[in-house]
Amino acid sequence: MPEAPDLEVIKDFLNQRAKGLLVEQAQVLKPLELRVLTPIDFVQDVAGRSFLGFSRRGKFLLMELSAERMLLVNPMLTGAIQLCPPSTRLVKRTSFRLSLSNGKELRYLDETQMGMAYYIESSQLEEVPRLGEQGPDVLDQYPAFPEFKQGLRRFQGEIKGVLARGQFLAGIGNAYADEVLFAAGIFPFKKRSALSEEELGSLHLAIPNVLHHAIAVLRERTGDDIHLKVRDFLAVHGKGGSPCPNCGGNITTIGANHRLTNYCRQCQPGMLLKN
Ligand SMILES: [Zn+2]
Repeated sequence: MPEAPDLEVIKDFLNQRAKGLLVEQAQVLKPLELRVLTPIDFVQDVAGRSFLGFSRRGKFLLMELSAERMLLVNPMLTGAIQLCPPSTRLVKRTSFRLSLSNGKELRYLDETQMGMAYYIESSQLEEVPRLGEQGPDVLDQYPAFPEFKQGLRRFQGEIKGVLARGQFLAGIGNAYADEVLFAAGIFPFKKRSALSEEELGSLHLAIPNVLHHAIAVLRERTGDDIHLKVRDFLAVHGKGGSPCPNCGGNITTIGANHRLTNYCRQCQPGMLLKN
C-alpha cells in the first residue's frame, strides 16, 4: 500500500532516473489493469514518447509524457513501479512494461490486482476515477490548524477511517494512519466528533512530523528497488505483539490482512465497542 511518503520517494527517484527517456516499446500483459481513456491503441501510441516528469497527487503517481499524454497509477494495496534491466525476472503480476531508451524497463506490478493504471490525454485528468475525490494533498497542501479543524468537521466516523479514506487529506492510508495516531496518542477507533481540542492539536502536529520522518528514512533505505516497500522502521503498524517504542507494552492488532490496525492500549487509550 504505497502512501504519500513511499510515492514521494518513488517520484523523486523516477525524476532522477527516467525523466527525459524515450519509451521505445510497450507490452501489456494484464489488459484489465490498464485503462485507456482515449480511443487509441496504447502500445502503438506510447512508443516514441518521452517522459517529461513524474509527480504525485495524494495516492496517485502521475507520469507526464510528451505530446499531451499521461500515465497515472493508483497503486491501492499492492501496486508497484519497478525500474530494472530487461533481464530481471518478470514477476507473475506484471501488468505492463515499457522499454526505455537507456536500456532499462519500467514495469507496473500488482499482486492483488486492485490498483489501476490510466493512459489518458492530458486534458482528461479530471476524468480519472478517484483522483478528484481525494482531499487536499497531505504534504503539498497541508492546512494550518484552524482550517484543519474546520475541514475535519465534515467527516463522520472513527478517526482512523477518516484519515485513511483520503477525502479529508490525500496520501495517508492504512499504515500511516496507524503511525500518526500513535504519534498523537489517539485511540484509532475514537469517533472524530469525540476528539478533544488537545487531541486535534496533537494530530495536526503528528501528521507532518511522521510523514517527513518517513520520507527521510525511505530516501536512505529504498535504493533502486522502488517496487519493494520498506516498512520495518514504523513504530506500530505491522508490529503487533512487539513492544511499544514508547511504553514497552504489547502492541495490539485488530483486523486482518491488508486492513490491520495496530496501536498501543496504554499510549492510545480507548474503548473498543463490539459490533
Ligand atoms: Zn505504548
